[in-house]
Amino acid sequence: MNQEQFKAMPDRLLVWYDKGNRILPWRSEPTPYHVWLSEIMLQQTRVEAVKPYYDRFLHALPDIAHLAEAGEEQLLKLWEGLGYYNRVRNLNKAAKIIMEEYGGQMPGTQEELLKLPGIGRYTSGAIASIAYGQADPAVDGNVLRVLARLFCDERNISEEKTKLAVEAELREVMPKDRPGDFNQSMMELGAMVCTPNGAPKCEVCPLREMCAAHQAGTWEQYPVKSAKKPRVIEDKTVLVMQSDRRAIFRKRPAKGLLAGMYEFPCIEGKADEDKALSAVRAFGFSPLHIEPLGEAKHIFTHKEWHMIGYAVRIDELSDLEAVAKKGHFILADRSEVTESYPIPTAYAAYRKYLT
Ligand code: SF4
Repeated sequence: MNQEQFKAMPDRLLVWYDKGNRILPWRSEPTPYHVWLSEIMLQQTRVEAVKPYYDRFLHALPDIAHLAEAGEEQLLKLWEGLGYYNRVRNLNKAAKIIMEEYGGQMPGTQEELLKLPGIGRYTSGAIASIAYGQADPAVDGNVLRVLARLFCDERNISEEKTKLAVEAELREVMPKDRPGDFNQSMMELGAMVCTPNGAPKCEVCPLREMCAAHQAGTWEQYPVKSAKKPRVIEDKTVLVMQSDRRAIFRKRPAKGLLAGMYEFPCIEGKADEDKALSAVRAFGFSPLHIEPLGEAKHIFTHKEWHMIGYAVRIDELSDLEAVAKKGHFILADRSEVTESYPIPTAYAAYRKYLT
């Protein structure tokens, strides 16, 4: 693609976009809150997975004022299963700032948006352009991939300087009358046509005549990015401990991975039944019965949990509450566990044994 073609690219892309873009819940009424919430949910998460969460979240917290007032447990429960829980904490923090410092109205410039927690260059560009009609680019991995292929661009897209340079280049050609649609058309092309996994659908791409990688048959070489570090593997044993009436949990620390979520008590390493029973006794509980629940794996961005689980029936001791308090355990009523306690998806394989 040469510079002349680059300047002509937005018009061509918008014609394609107008012919039939995806119907998505957040596109029907692109208020600043709707755009913001959807963009935060869509980070690291597929569109289809986000849709029910988006509807449920908006039903519970229909505007920024409600979001600012929401408590942590409610937020984590609404986010349960989406992962990357700091996203919802930052939404709440930013909503409080918007209520206190901006009179409840989300700021409309990229510069002001960038001051809010959890809003980076991509999200600020998306909100400013889609909700406020500002000519700010929204450059994410999809956009970087498309442009790298269009130009056979050798720059490393993992580097911040590349992202900033691409943003500046796009700013030059953005249509001032439809910046939001242009950004969405770039995202749409990256998501539906110039896809990250497997071969791009060049045969239906509106930009194929101007695409250098398509002409050269070299799309596989783009984008250039840094190799990922291998994930750290952690082995752990998950103990699903339940008495007649209660299930035993722990609350994770307020900072770090899965902060503030509820989890099954765990021990390091993959324990056999004897070791698992010893651990239950060391916690202060009296095990009555143990049953293996098999192995499970959960993959985070930087680590993997390789787990083995046991269901342990414990005695409903008269001093169960004192034992739990001493070990900082939470005694949850079994009848309300799944509705009331945010339990991370990492434990999905074992959560189903809560009865
Ligand atoms: Fe991507 Fe193919 Fe379109 Fe080029 S022609 S932008 S490689 S889908």
